Amino acid sequence: MTTPQVPLLLKGKTGIIMGVANEWSLAWGIAQAAHAAGANIILTYANAAMEKRVRPLAEKLGAEVHPCDVQADSQLLALAKTLEERPQKIDFLVHAVAFAHKDELKGGITNTTREGFNLALDVSCYSFIALMKYFGPYLADDASALTLTYEGATKVVPNYNVMGVAKAALEAATRYLAAEFGPRGIRVNAISAGPVNTLAARGISDFQAMLKHHEATAPLRRLTTQQDVAGAALYLLSHLGSGTTGEVLMVDTGAHILGPTPATAV
Ligand code: NAP
Repeated sequence: MTTPQVPLLLKGKTGIIMGVANEWSLAWGIAQAAHAAGANIILTYANAAMEKRVRPLAEKLGAEVHPCDVQADSQLLALAKTLEERPQKIDFLVHAVAFAHKDELKGGITNTTREGFNLALDVSCYSFIALMKYFGPYLADDASALTLTYEGATKVVPNYNVMGVAKAALEAATRYLAAEFGPRGIRVNAISAGPVNTLAARGISDFQAMLKHHEATAPLRRLTTQQDVAGAALYLLSHLGSGTTGEVLMVDTGAHILGPTPATAV
């Protein structure tokens, strides 16, 4: 991707970015942009297979790398311990993590099993609360935390199902976290990104059709890019977003403004 050209908005800041799986990840776009804006980056990986993918990317940014499966309290605690030992606090935190069983991302919502529901909500929503719980003490008093959500939280999107429910919970959690951390000056926001062709997104049934529809109908008549999301993230993570918290910022080339009218009739 072409990294947005920005002034050194994050010069001297240090941030943790969770959810880099490969070079297409939204988290990787944010990591590159934050690095270009002067930040020191800490990346995490969920398991040994991912470590192999994340380490070479981390090297490109001179980033630190730590294990952190968000379902494992022991790993969250271990990472918190390394944060405690740092001379300086953490200035920003990016949560770009989500998971649901592929066979529950098709058909109707009643395809959801109890186990699949708990898994999707745990990885995709509770994990953000857990990060703030474990890492909160080591966040700077003007820190900014950011998560990634999708319009399926507020509207019915075919096949998105349990992930829509998880994203609705995540958006609510963002508001509750913003209220809890606000008195310390810490901001908590979400970016609602349009569909981007990533590993996680490809797990959604008929995702290619979703991309086609978005490109053809969104007001900007194009897909959302890693750069679009990274640029919005820089705003929310830096002092430019100093008055914004508890917000869900739509970064979807305008698709969310459309009503049910077919685009051809507009
Ligand atoms: P991605 O590259 O596949 O990233 C998803 C990340 O979640 C991966 O790094 C994955 O690691 C991680 N993850 C899953 N389970 C985990 C666990 N237990 N512990 C730690 N990490 C775990 O896909 P992405 O599209 O960039 O997704 C990033 C975020 O953006 C997600 O919250 C997604 O819902 C959101 N979002 C995406 C789109 C889109 O269209 N792409 C639109 C709106 C919002 P593993 O690969 O190791 O499982």
